[in-house]
Amino acid sequence: MFDTHCHLNFSSFKKNLAEVIRKAEADGVSCMVVPGTDFKTSQKAVEIAKQFKNVYAAVGIHPHHVYEIDEKGLDIEAELKRLEELLMEDKVVAVGEVGMDKHYYEKTRYDNYQVNDNFIKLQKQLLMRQMKMAVENKKSLILHNRQAIEEFLEVVGDSWDQVLTQRTVFHCAEPDKRLLEFVLEHDIYIGIDGDVTYDQKKQEFVKTIPLGHLVLETDAPFLLPEPLRSKKMYPNAPANLTIILNDISRLKGVDRKELDRITTENGNNLFQINPIPPGTKIHINN
Ligand SMILES: [Zn+2]
Ligand SMILES: [Zn+2]
Repeated sequence: MFDTHCHLNFSSFKKNLAEVIRKAEADGVSCMVVPGTDFKTSQKAVEIAKQFKNVYAAVGIHPHHVYEIDEKGLDIEAELKRLEELLMEDKVVAVGEVGMDKHYYEKTRYDNYQVNDNFIKLQKQLLMRQMKMAVENKKSLILHNRQAIEEFLEVVGDSWDQVLTQRTVFHCAEPDKRLLEFVLEHDIYIGIDGDVTYDQKKQEFVKTIPLGHLVLETDAPFLLPEPLRSKKMYPNAPANLTIILNDISRLKGVDRKELDRITTENGNNLFQINPIPPGTKIHINN
């Protein structure tokens, strides 16, 4: 299995990171990608990737944390420059997570936080710039969208470049037909999380996603799948990817081993990890 989105860089895993990774590997997770959400967590993701063989990093400023630029009066160019330097480090496979987010977060580190026009404008600007960064550096792209679908698709469509084909994921995609249409049209991926175990709309949505466009993710420490969610067994961890795989296997009526093979291959292709060179003859046993 491939956990294409887990925040091992967050404080929930500070004390037992090695144990969390060991448990995931023991439960069949062979690869993990850790996305950054601001400069600090991006730096941490790179550090962790260098430390653990099966872990890779992504660096980026999450739309919610774009707020920091405004609040602290940071220089956008300087922020992007130091992010781009991180992008050059070993085992950094993608720019992410970046995107648009109009959700109002109750818990946030920002004082006087508001989702207003100015903030949305800044989010758009940062999304465009970070997409450009992925294109120019030939990296993959992890896109986040929450309650901002029109603006999100507009900016992503406008900033689209052919090199992002097959190398982009709509992570934790909202169950919306417009997102799926974009995915099929541009030949990219959709990431499905543990909420598929209890959210009926997600369950119907996942049935409509062709296997060739599907990747799995836990979004750990968030989005704990059922039955762990009812038992409040936080934090979520990459080892719980098994639960997500099993549920999707049941929902789509696809053998779990086959679903594992396909989604892992999709993850490898998305992040260009051990890609199979074109023209290679693949021998399939059985
Ligand atoms: Zn996200
Ligand atoms: Zn995330």
